[in-house]
Order: sequence, then C-alpha cells, then structure tokens
Amino acid sequence: MNDTLRHKGLRKRLVDGLKIKGIKDQGVLEAINNIPRHLFMESSFVHFAYKDQAFPIGAGQTISQPYTVAFQTQLLEIQKFDKVLEIGTGSGYQASVLLEMGAIVYTIERQKELYLKVREFLPQIGYNPKFFFGDGYKGLPTYGPFDKILITAGATSVPEDLKSQLKIGGRMVIPVGKHDRQSMCLIKRLGENEFVMGKHGSFVFVPLLKGTANS
Ligand code: SAH
Repeated sequence: MNDTLRHKGLRKRLVDGLKIKGIKDQGVLEAINNIPRHLFMESSFVHFAYKDQAFPIGAGQTISQPYTVAFQTQLLEIQKFDKVLEIGTGSGYQASVLLEMGAIVYTIERQKELYLKVREFLPQIGYNPKFFFGDGYKGLPTYGPFDKILITAGATSVPEDLKSQLKIGGRMVIPVGKHDRQSMCLIKRLGENEFVMGKHGSFVFVPLLKGTANS
C-alpha cells in the first residue's frame, strides 16, 4: 500500500505539532511518525489523515484525534513487552501505536463490521494484535491480568471487571464522564484493593456502549 515521501513529510509535521502541544514520550512520537495513518481511513483523504483531528471510520465511529491517541498512550508509560488491553479497536490505529512501541496488544471491538474489517486490514500492513469481538466492559478475564489497560471510548464510570484485570503496579487510562465530555482518568493499582486515580484534562469521545452490535 502506498506510503509516499509526501505522506512522510505530512506525518513529520503532525509529529512536530504534537510536540508543541506537549507530547514528550519519544516512543509515542516515533510510532506516530512511522504509522501511515492515511491507510486507516475509508479512502485516502491525505489532508485529513495528517490533520490533528478525529475522522469518521464507518458504523458511526471515529478514528481518534492523533493528539488524543498520543496523550492516552503517554499516560500509560508503555514499556517494551507490556501486555496491554485496549477497549475499542475502531480503526486499529491506536493498537498499531502500541505495537510499534513493542507492546503485546489485546484489543476488543463491539461493532462486528469494524472488527471484521480491521482484523483483515491490520496484518496486511504488518500489525498483529490479538483481536476480539465482544463487550469491552467485561474485559478479557481469561487473558489477564494486564500491565496496562486503555479505554478509547467514553465511560460513565470505571468498570469493576477492568479494574480487577489490571496487574498490581499497572496503569489504566479511561475517559470518564456524563454525556459528551469526559475527564481523562489515570488509575494506578497499588495493591489488591488499593487504587489511586488522577484526572488529566477533558476530552470528547464516542460513548462506551454495553453489549455487541452485529450490523
Ligand atoms: N481506538 C480507536 C478509536 C475508536 S472509537 C482507533 O484508534 O481508531 C471507540 C471504539 O470503541 C468504537 O469503535 C466503538 O465501537 C468501540 N466501543 C464502544 N463501546 C465498546 C465496548 N463496550 N466494547 C468494545 N468496544 C467498544
């Protein structure tokens, strides 16, 4: 698939913009610099692909804004070989960022159409997370615990099932709020029953929904 010098140039500009907006994690910046975001979109809207904005990907869902992807990933402090659970595969872009950083990625999507599309597409460009179709509210109890958990849709509260699948010493990043605005919450698990939570600004996400959808 086509990744030209022009695409690379636009990507470099996007990364420079993310640095100006405060993204410092070199691994995150390198991943965004390496991933051809234009290939994740319905057609190659190159101008939109490298603008720092969200974009529709079908099934009423969006590929997150690069700044949001970078910010959430930076909060996770990804290390090589971290076992990461992502809720909301969507376009697969966020999963690719985690894979570029050397993580082992488990990703869940509740929209059948998106799940099927991404499961076919991502390996074609060299990214191989473990794909699951299901309700991310429940996580993946048989595959946990995870070093990091990332929720890429807005939740009204923190799902208990996900907290229990976080390793002690692990980090979870989840946007939490009512209606259409969420606080970016970072939860650290300090002990069996000990969690601390910090808030890191406000963002807009599509909602985290219960159950699965087949169309
Ligand atoms: N991480 C994605 C962003 C996708 S937007 C990307 O990089 O493109 C959020 C996604 O979460 C949507 O695809 C939506 O269908 C999915 N979603 C919402 N609720 C969910 C749930 N309970 N379980 C799994 N996926 C969910």
